[in-house]
Amino acid sequence: MSLPAGDPYADIPWDDAPPPDDQWAPPEDGWMPPPDAAAPYGAPAPGPSLPEHRDFVGADPRAVLHEVYGYDEFRGTQAAIVEHVISGGDAVVLMPTGGGKSVCYQVPALVRPGTGLVISPLIALMHDQVDALVANGVRAAYLNSTQLPGERAAVERAYLAGELDLLYVAPERLNTEPMRRFLEKGTLSVIAIDEAHCVSQWGHDFRPDYLGLGDLAERFPGVPRLALTATATPATHREITERLQLPRAEHFVSSFDRPNIQYRIEAKTDPRRQLVGFIKSQPAGAAGIVYALSRKSVEQTAEYLRGQGVDALPYHAGLDASVRAANQSRFLRDDGVVMVATIAFGMGIDKPDVRFVAHIDLPKSVEGYYQETGRAGRDGDPAVAWMAYGLGDVVQQRRMIDQSPGDRSYKIRLGQHLDAMLGLCETVGCRRQNLLDYFGEPSQPCGNCDTCLEAPDTWDGLVPAQKLLSTIVRLQRERNQSFGAGHLIDILRGASTDRIRQQSHDTLSTYGLGADLSDQDWRSVIRQLLARGILVARGEYGTLALGEPAGGVLRGETAVPLRRDIIGRAGGTPRVRKVSASEAVAEGDRDLFEALREWRASVARELGVPAYIVFGDATLRALAEHRPASLGDLDGITGIGAKKREAYGEAVLEVVAAG
Ligand code: ADP
Ligand code: ZN
Repeated sequence: MSLPAGDPYADIPWDDAPPPDDQWAPPEDGWMPPPDAAAPYGAPAPGPSLPEHRDFVGADPRAVLHEVYGYDEFRGTQAAIVEHVISGGDAVVLMPTGGGKSVCYQVPALVRPGTGLVISPLIALMHDQVDALVANGVRAAYLNSTQLPGERAAVERAYLAGELDLLYVAPERLNTEPMRRFLEKGTLSVIAIDEAHCVSQWGHDFRPDYLGLGDLAERFPGVPRLALTATATPATHREITERLQLPRAEHFVSSFDRPNIQYRIEAKTDPRRQLVGFIKSQPAGAAGIVYALSRKSVEQTAEYLRGQGVDALPYHAGLDASVRAANQSRFLRDDGVVMVATIAFGMGIDKPDVRFVAHIDLPKSVEGYYQETGRAGRDGDPAVAWMAYGLGDVVQQRRMIDQSPGDRSYKIRLGQHLDAMLGLCETVGCRRQNLLDYFGEPSQPCGNCDTCLEAPDTWDGLVPAQKLLSTIVRLQRERNQSFGAGHLIDILRGASTDRIRQQSHDTLSTYGLGADLSDQDWRSVIRQLLARGILVARGEYGTLALGEPAGGVLRGETAVPLRRDIIGRAGGTPRVRKVSASEAVAEGDRDLFEALREWRASVARELGVPAYIVFGDATLRALAEHRPASLGDLDGITGIGAKKREAYGEAVLEVVAAG
């Protein structure tokens, strides 16, 4: 037995992780357009409840932004993208989560004649986006398998009649010939391919159906196409451009930095306790996501958190669909829910006010980590990405790669992904710099990550590393034995266990030589040696062997500077850099802000939509600060367009007047 003792995750089978495509829209076989769009299936169709038509064709994009969304200015590259697409150009848009990708295709869809087609891989995402658009008075609808035939037919009719500003579909549906013929009968204004990195075969979200989207160029000539993603290494970027046939596209690459997210990674000792400590250090009522690798760990952690008074819910692919839907809806709608989930959760979750994302298991790649942590703080307010990471993670991941069914090159690639992830965990430099560097973006130390806030100590690990390596060598040479971390640490620390006595390992010359370091210290040493490949973990039990660079260490030629672990600093100094959108509510405005939040919650409950569909926090803050007294005053409040002014204006003014 070789798994580190005391690791509560040691017993969890790895193959229990759910397929990542859990939430993808199901394939939609056999779908056909209605034979007669005017009277489909003979039944009176419950139409999509579309807002009244407002004509923006040919309008000034900034006026549209103001009128529809209530925003004063385009952000970053938005203006350039919108202008380029309106004039008919293709675009590849790389923008981090929360950067504002939707506006980039929605505004052109409104300004150009016809319907904007949006290809979106997730049903949940489609529903969210359509809800948000309709709330802003945009005529948006989707076609997917959750609809009754009559509902679908009504959407189709609306499209053919030119009554839709935006239409959302899943890629598998778009790849059917009947669907394409159907679309040709109407007019498309733009084609937006969201989550475009799904076309990358080597990426972590590959969806074969995306490969079929390349020929949209020939099928709909003259319709500008945009590919958008928040995940983009230079390699993925190239793949998107090639496979989606966008040779003439203009490329808009934003900085991938998410300055409002604070990154923290600490050594795992007692993950659940550490997690609770972290959550309790966050402001009360903060919504968060906790990612774990296995279903079992998800359930146990959620239960543990509930026992500690945290409003936590589980989410994984093995739960009943109705339970999943109910938990997701509570997370979206109620304040302060913590979702404990496998990676099956979160893709396409637009909730803007997730305040933290915590990982209690090591993600398999930096891409995955960045995407998952990116779900925090979409609204630009301060948020934290926290992770506990330990020796067990490294051993398990290496073993998993070893045992994976893929060919050699596949395993090498997995190994590279893991190495990059370990590099991030073990860096003594700025985490953000490390992350951005991975995405090909040079930057300076950020001042808003754990290593910047408190520079980690390093210490000279050469001698302990030599003791450990020579123990491994001796066991191998003298007795033809190999062991995992736990037993090796016992030998080095001079423990007197049954196994040591039975194997007479107390006669080894290194027995007891490492008693100066604690069990925890040794784990840290081994973890860091594994991360650098000086040690390798083998086989089912993760027995340790010497890696390539070990020779240099044994000869004393290779320095071994090690990072001193910091545990449980979560409650420490959350010095968060202020960003413009995130000025906290001023003391004097807080009561009004709370009153507005209550009002928002009641409206959201009544309408059965998430609170942020009604208004975002930034809008409530602006209301609390500016205290508008008339409908005219609402014009300058961010996030209140014409439709929302009409729908909620009076009610909001009442709350403000009363506050
Ligand atoms: P992405 O799809 O890139 O993650 P979204 O399109 O969901 O980002 O936008 C993120 C947030 O930023 C949303 O709350 C959105 O309403 C807001 N937003 C987008 N563009 C602007 C803008 N120009 N001004 C103010 N807020 C904006
Ligand atoms: Zn930093």
